[in-house]
Amino acid sequence: MTSTWTEPSNTATALLLLGRGTDPASERGVDCPGDLPAASDPDLVARATAAKAALGDRVFVLGHHYQRDEVIQFADVTGDSFKLAREAAARPDAEFIIFCGVHFMAESADILTGPGQRVVLPDLAAGCSMADMAVLGQVEAAWDEFTDLGIADDIVPVTYMNSSADIKGFVGRNEGVVCTSSNAKRALTWAFERGQKVFFLPDQHLGRNTAVLEMGLTLDDCVLWDPHKPHGGLTPEQLREAKMILWRGHCSVHGRFTLDSVREVRERVPGVRVLVHPECRHEVVRAADEVGSTEYIIKALDAAPAGSSWAVGTELNLVRRMALAHPDKQIMFLDRAVCYCSTMNRIDLPHLVWSLEELVAGRVPNQISVDADTAKYARVALDQMLALP
Ligand code: SF4
Repeated sequence: MTSTWTEPSNTATALLLLGRGTDPASERGVDCPGDLPAASDPDLVARATAAKAALGDRVFVLGHHYQRDEVIQFADVTGDSFKLAREAAARPDAEFIIFCGVHFMAESADILTGPGQRVVLPDLAAGCSMADMAVLGQVEAAWDEFTDLGIADDIVPVTYMNSSADIKGFVGRNEGVVCTSSNAKRALTWAFERGQKVFFLPDQHLGRNTAVLEMGLTLDDCVLWDPHKPHGGLTPEQLREAKMILWRGHCSVHGRFTLDSVREVRERVPGVRVLVHPECRHEVVRAADEVGSTEYIIKALDAAPAGSSWAVGTELNLVRRMALAHPDKQIMFLDRAVCYCSTMNRIDLPHLVWSLEELVAGRVPNQISVDADTAKYARVALDQMLALP
C-alpha cells in the first residue's frame, strides 16, 4: 500500500510570518544577523554533513518534532520540548547544543545544561506566539491584583513548558511548578494539594481541558484573565469564586482546529478516529476520540492497526512525517488548510548550515543565555516538575 497523504492547501493566514518583531521583551526574537547561504545552494546537505563531522562530539543537534524534514535529518535526537531539554542536560560533554526548535525551548536547555555548554538557536526569530502572550510585567501586575484582593496566598501558579524563562522564574519564585502536555494533570493535582486555586499560564486551552476533562472541575470553575483588560476583565467575586484562573493565551497553530473540522472529516471518512493535541480548543478536544501530547500522538499512530484511518489535529510537519512513515494507515491532517507553526518553520537548512559553519570557524552564533537569577528560579519550577509524584 502506498501513502495516502494529501497535502493540505495553502492559505494566506497559515503562511503569515510571525517572529519579525524587534521588541527585545518579545519571545519572538529578532531577525537573524547571519550571512546565510542561499536556499537554492545544491551543496547545503554536503555542507551541513561536513561541518557536523568536523565538530564531532563537540556539537549535539536537537530537533523538535515540528521541524522541517530538511533539518530533522541532521538531528542527533528528536522529541518534544521537555524531552529535548533533558537530552541536552544528559550531554555534559557537548560544548555546543544546536536547538532546532523555538526560543523558549533553547532557554530551557540553557537552564538545564552546565555552565560550560552553549546553546545555539539557528534563527533568533524562531519564537512562539503562545509564549509571547504572557509577558512578565503583565503577569506580575495580575499577581499584584490577586495580592490586593487577598487571594494570592490561596493561589499556586502553574506554567506550561511553552513559556519564557521569565515566566518560569516568576512561577519558581512563587512556589509553583512547570508542566508539559503529558503531565498537566499531575501538576494540577500537586497544585490543588497546596492551594485552593491555580493560576495557569499561558495556554488557556491546556489549562481548561485538563481541569475540566481530567480533574472533574466545571467550566464555571474556570475564569479567563485577559491582560489587555482592566482587572483582567473579571470582577473580584469571579476571582474569589474561581478555582482555575486561566491566562488568555493560546497556540496559533492548534487554535485553528474547529468543531467544523471534526464534523467535516467524520462525514468524509467513515470510521475515522480523531486524535488531537490538548492545546486545541475545548469543544474540539471534547469532540475528538483521543487527546494527547505530541509524544502520545506519535505512539498512538505507531500502534494503530493497518488499515485504520486517523485525522490528526497537530502541527503539519509532524502529521506529514507520520503519514509517510505509515503508508499502511490512512493518516490525514484534521484541517483542510495548511497549518505549519510558522516560527518553528523559520529554522531551515540554510540557518542550520550557517550555525554549524560558524561553530567550525570558532564563532558562537545566536547564543541563548538566561540570566543567573531568572535561571535559578526557573530551575526551581522545572525541578519541581521533575519531582512530581
Ligand atoms: S506550535 Fe504553537 S505552542 Fe508550539 S511553538 Fe508553535 S506557536 Fe508555540
